[in-house]
Amino acid sequence: MIATELVAPAVRARFDTIYARPVVLEVAGLTKEFEGEHGKTTALERVSFKAHRRELLCVIGPSGCGKSTLGRLVAGLDEVTSGQVMVDGKVVDGPGSDRGMVFQNYTLFPWRTVLENVMFGLEVAGQSRSTAETEAMPWVDMVGLRKFANAYPHQLSGGMKQRVAIARALVNRPRILVMDEPFGALDPQTRAEMQAHLIEIWRNVDVTILFVTHDLDEAIYLADRILVMGTSPGRLLEAVEVPLPRPRQPQQFGSPLFDATKRYLESLVHPHPPKAVEKLPFCRMTLAGDDVE
Ligand code: ADP
Repeated sequence: MIATELVAPAVRARFDTIYARPVVLEVAGLTKEFEGEHGKTTALERVSFKAHRRELLCVIGPSGCGKSTLGRLVAGLDEVTSGQVMVDGKVVDGPGSDRGMVFQNYTLFPWRTVLENVMFGLEVAGQSRSTAETEAMPWVDMVGLRKFANAYPHQLSGGMKQRVAIARALVNRPRILVMDEPFGALDPQTRAEMQAHLIEIWRNVDVTILFVTHDLDEAIYLADRILVMGTSPGRLLEAVEVPLPRPRQPQQFGSPLFDATKRYLESLVHPHPPKAVEKLPFCRMTLAGDDVE
């Protein structure tokens, strides 16, 4: 546990406020099995948790623990094996406009401008082009891309593309935004900027966020609570309340409370010391005596 004397009473009060809000997302006994060539994989086993309105939940855990599978099941992109996902008390049985999704790889339509990409969900929902344009523009504005509204994806940086993806996911006013490693392909500087942008967007929009990452610093910086998952089978180990006060500041990285939280998460994610690195067979491809060390 994170030492309670480190946690300010204001942080405790903030969690009491969060838990008093209605539950938007309920995941109950969620199990997902995949049949493969080498038999059955249990990607998730009886995962249960609740997310409250406007809560920002991060999901962390080692590779293969089922983080992406969880995101896809919440988004309704895969079928559950048993258990259920509920949004506002309604069982999810496929994709729906109450859930938006942002992935790591850029998924914009290359033949559509920024504004047209953001309009897409509205047009699919049956709105006319001019109404969709009017409704989409404030979202383009919100992610700071007004000047680029008529640009095409190939003219944008990676960070800008992900801002469009966020606007496109939010334009239908989803209750839940599922983000699967959305900043994983960005350079560290852009990634840090995007984290700050996301917090700002989340503060201004009534949306609950489920954010998958393998980066502990990112999770601590962003989250209210962090769902820590373990492997074989993929399961929920603990839901950890982040004891850092809001508003979050980059200066909080490396503070004693930040470090204590990170050490605690590391002890859950990597409970054993790392295995020794495998020694490679000796195989010289240079001349003898041409050593670098
Ligand atoms: P993570 O996102 O934590 O790395 P995933 O959710 O991608 O983990 O995968 C969890 C487990 O489920 C892994 O063992 C993976 O190989 C398996 N898995 C995921 N998707 C499929 C699939 N479509 N078919 C078969 N196995 C899958």
